[in-house]
Amino acid sequence: MTIDGEGEGGKRSYPVDLRSDTVTKPSKEMRVAMADAEVDDDVLGQDPTTHLLETEVARVFGKEAALFVPSGTMANLISVLVYCEVRGSEVILGDDSHIHVYENGGISTIGGVHSKTIRNSSDGTMDISLIREAIRPRELYYPTTKLICLENTHANCGGRCISVEYTDSVGELAKQHGLKLHIDGARIFNASVALGVPVERLVRAADSVSVCMSKGLGAPVGSVIIGSACFITKAKRLRKTLGGGMRQVGVLCAAALVALRVNVSKLEDDHNHAKLFADGLSKIEGVVIDKSSVQTNMVFFDVGNDKLGISPKKFSRTLEDDYGVITMPSSSTSIRIVVHYQISEKDVHYALECIKEVIKKLRVGI
Ligand SMILES: *Cc1c(COP(=O)(O)O)cnc(C)c1O
Repeated sequence: MTIDGEGEGGKRSYPVDLRSDTVTKPSKEMRVAMADAEVDDDVLGQDPTTHLLETEVARVFGKEAALFVPSGTMANLISVLVYCEVRGSEVILGDDSHIHVYENGGISTIGGVHSKTIRNSSDGTMDISLIREAIRPRELYYPTTKLICLENTHANCGGRCISVEYTDSVGELAKQHGLKLHIDGARIFNASVALGVPVERLVRAADSVSVCMSKGLGAPVGSVIIGSACFITKAKRLRKTLGGGMRQVGVLCAAALVALRVNVSKLEDDHNHAKLFADGLSKIEGVVIDKSSVQTNMVFFDVGNDKLGISPKKFSRTLEDDYGVITMPSSSTSIRIVVHYQISEKDVHYALECIKEVIKKLRVGI
């Protein structure tokens, strides 16, 4: 097939970039909002657009205050450090969590925080009895457990949603032991849409939350930390320490406001597109995919199994070089696809056709 083999005469935008929901380009509406944003010095606390974003996000999350930061990594680092300011503090978190795997071990190298990891189940949760057992007794020789972190949706577990019931139980456990609960909610809006539960309810048991404006919501830059007024005061000081105090940052917050107001409603389409991918992939002979794991905007599938024996790296390279469809190998056997609002249903059908072609080409013995 050729890239121009388009039946309906619609214009397709290439490449079809399925690496992540971080790859969206700012929309026209965002660019206009950025150009028109009213700004001032936010380190001096006087940027009106930043103030507007922080107030609106705090309201949506049902908490007292919020703080705009440059990235999700900084949002999580700051959150953990606020609770673990005393050296020898320990955080309980999933062994496959973003904080533990993808953030350079910053809570340890920068914050001196000790990690107690618990195995993540395939649904992104941690067994509650294992969390309970991991809480240290107050003995001279143990680190001091201060915090539990959850991740919702859980990226490495396929973008699966963590339920209100589970979150509430972990919150209850934390309370019983005088611990805090932080949610890495980089994609919490995806969970909210998929579960049909307002974000405020999903995070009610948490003391703090971080949310990415630049994932599925499509803003070019930034995350927001949400929590109590006292927590945010401490977070603001740490943000400055880490070099994250920004001046006329309202230009970025203006785009994030558009993301929040306009793009949350588009996440459902993304989830439908992901399911369409899962359906299509499940019909390709040899591809292994667990359709039930596709709850939000991520799809993981296996091409390196015994039947196909295709190297994910080779698959990904061929798909990109020959068809302009960009994916990411996610393990020695699997591929990850993430959809976002700049991927249309037509793109999904096109990508599926291309994937079929590539598998035909690379399949061992053909
Ligand atoms: C992307 C992501 C982060 C970090 O965000 P950056 O802005 O890339 O630093 C944190 N947690 C999860 C679950 C993420 O997917």
